[in-house]
Amino acid sequence: MTRVYIALGSNLRDPLYQCQRAIAALAALPETTLINTSSLYRTPPYGPQDQPDFLNAVVVLETALSPLALLDHTQRIELEQGRERKDERWGPRTLDLDLLLFGEQFMTSERLILPHYDMHNRAFMLVPLAEVAGDLPLGDKGSVASCLASLDTSTITLW
Ligand code: ATP
Ligand code: CA
Ligand code: CA
Ligand code: CA
Repeated sequence: MTRVYIALGSNLRDPLYQCQRAIAALAALPETTLINTSSLYRTPPYGPQDQPDFLNAVVVLETALSPLALLDHTQRIELEQGRERKDERWGPRTLDLDLLLFGEQFMTSERLILPHYDMHNRAFMLVPLAEVAGDLPLGDKGSVASCLASLDTSTITLW
């Protein structure tokens, strides 16, 4: 079994509902156990500002699935919850599930980059991650705590 950290984001169609439904769907995956869920946070949008605030959280799983099999499932869950593919980068969405860390796995393929390529720059990922993971190493980027020390966390509040 491998310990996996998944970032969850939603800012459309009742984010609290989307989040609770996504956590239930992740907990129901085959060969997978839900270990923990962070608090739910309200964060300003990353990228385009003309959209609602996001609900962000991090979920901890233990899984025997491979990284790509898990990605298949998270992308299916996004689609089942009405995720639409739009041209605008970082635009509004019902559900975004990003794999942050998959054990100690490093991977760069067309479909999957592990660890998540930009998590060290995103307080909305690192604040909930720190809550459930403590001070983990992020590859060559330093630790969660050292990355967070150079980011603005003042706009992040509890949902
Ligand atoms: P960002 O990736 O910068 O947070 P985004 O989440 O809005 O932006 P998406 O449109 O959801 O981007 O995903 C684009 C592609 O990223 C997906 O089709 C997926 O194959 C790929 N991808 C690469 N690495 C990961 C990862 N660690 N977790 C989830 N998707 C990933
Ligand atoms: Ca816009
Ligand atoms: Ca994302
Ligand atoms: Ca994504």
